[in-house]
Amino acid sequence: MTSAEIPPVHAPEREARIDLEAIRHNVRRIAEVASPAQVMAVVKADGYGHGMLPVARAALEAGAQWLGTAHVAEALQLRRAGIEAPLLAWLHTPATDFAAAVSAGIDLGVSGWELEHVVAAARREERPARIHLKIDTGLGRNGSTEALWDSLVGEAVEYQDQGLLRVVGIFSHLAVADEPHRTETDLQLERFREAVAVAEDAGVDVEVRHLANTPAIFSRPDTHFDLVRAGVGLYGLSPFPTQSPADLGLRPAMTLATMVAQCKDVPADQGVSYGLSYRTAQPSTLALIPMGYGDGIPRSATGGPVRIGDTVHSVVGRIAMDQMVVDLGAGAAVAEGRSVLGQEAVLFGAEPDPSVDLWAAAAGTINYEIVTRIAPRVPRVYLNESVSSESVSGEPGRAD
Ligand SMILES: *Cc1c(COP(=O)(O)O)cnc(C)c1O
Repeated sequence: MTSAEIPPVHAPEREARIDLEAIRHNVRRIAEVASPAQVMAVVKADGYGHGMLPVARAALEAGAQWLGTAHVAEALQLRRAGIEAPLLAWLHTPATDFAAAVSAGIDLGVSGWELEHVVAAARREERPARIHLKIDTGLGRNGSTEALWDSLVGEAVEYQDQGLLRVVGIFSHLAVADEPHRTETDLQLERFREAVAVAEDAGVDVEVRHLANTPAIFSRPDTHFDLVRAGVGLYGLSPFPTQSPADLGLRPAMTLATMVAQCKDVPADQGVSYGLSYRTAQPSTLALIPMGYGDGIPRSATGGPVRIGDTVHSVVGRIAMDQMVVDLGAGAAVAEGRSVLGQEAVLFGAEPDPSVDLWAAAAGTINYEIVTRIAPRVPRVYLNESVSSESVSGEPGRAD
């Protein structure tokens, strides 16, 4: 076939399609499981790669009362976009702009050293800061040690009495909630209750105690308290190796799709991609998939699934920066008129598309990482932006 005979195709070359109705559904599902606790939609890292702003808006529409980010810079972006819901940011450095956060009414996680910075910011802005004191109950990352908790609480109460801040919440983060049989969660829960009791004895009247992440929302109702922090579940992914999103009543929100960039017949023993680590066993047909690690697909994910038409194929050979190859096998010969050039190629999505989990398994990582690392060069396209439409309506909107 000459190029003149190939008709132009009016379809996206590559895109991450985000179904905002799936996000809304997941929020409603999580709210039902967590009730009567409130829901914080965790939208850090650009909404786990899904787009922070559209996800935040959809989550609030569906009943999430809070938004959570790691960085103050992320929370400021939400405020600048006009989002007025309560917002918590919890990972700071001495370079964090606490004054901007206080001025924008952003709640701040405080594990220790931050307290003095937050108070200085409150003085400067002449506005009381809103803080959530964080206790390390066993994760060994952020949070106050148990040894320093009494004095952190005492100082916070003093500043609260001076009108410089309000202790809105107390929180902690779980280490092994995705492995429900492990006993460390019980220990963390017990330490959390003790930390809350210490704060209450010191006169703190907290609005929200919060501990649960997505795995704890589904496996540990005793961790729900007043508020749950939902990340990966919001995006419709399961934190458990043995339970699918459908098992949890969740719907994957992201579909990663491109189209076949080349389709050609090759002889037996054709090496494929850098290193020639794969060779065709027989005369075969190869399809070129124009995505690679430059698009955020892990280079280690050889063997990952790609759906073309009704068939799911596996990536063969090394994944390169821009491209990867699937072997369609014998019987797919271009010479016999079966070229798949220009056909849609879906890496993952909701059923019947391959799952994100299969890519995670191929790359030796978790589903969280697969969606979060999809690169900015892949356009995000939003489905069901308006709340009223239950189905895909008309042209999908592009995010700015
Ligand atoms: C990222 C994060 C969450 C969300 O965790 P998921 O497992 O994705 O639900 C909750 N809390 C904190 C402190 C986090 O950093």
